[in-house]
Amino acid sequence: MFQQLILAGVLSAPVVSVQKAQERYGALDKDYRMVNESKWIVPFSFKPFGLNYETRLNRDIIVPLVFVLQELKLRGLISEITSFHGCFSSRPVSGTNRPSIHAYGLGCDFNHSKFSSAFVEVWKRWGFTWGGDFCSWKDWMHFSYSWEKGECPNNDDAAIKE
Ligand SMILES: [Zn+2]
Repeated sequence: MFQQLILAGVLSAPVVSVQKAQERYGALDKDYRMVNESKWIVPFSFKPFGLNYETRLNRDIIVPLVFVLQELKLRGLISEITSFHGCFSSRPVSGTNRPSIHAYGLGCDFNHSKFSSAFVEVWKRWGFTWGGDFCSWKDWMHFSYSWEKGECPNNDDAAIKE
């Protein structure tokens, strides 16, 4: 279903790297703020899914995120989300000067505690990357509509081939 929606042009494919996010959504300024923010970033509420969170997000993430949340709800997995730590955030990757995918509104952070494999599988099915799959340090709370790899040995997260 996910691939069909991409091919039909209903969904934008996940960006393959932060560099590709910059090509698609425009540059960030020196404070990691999107120059084209008003064009891409829209309000989003988790309330229809029983979660009392609101945030702003890249409009390209909204439809896949709604599919994820709806499926988590239908499968009785939504209760695994017990805390929310933000989505859109103009900042670098922690401890670096490289832009975070959060600066493009393409990632969300939830619990620090672990999720079940069934929960993670739903996100992946809709094109999201889980930080628990990063190459080096694991970002257990992080889901993004991108193909980030984290810090990989002998290359960087721009090395993913299209
Ligand atoms: Zn994150």
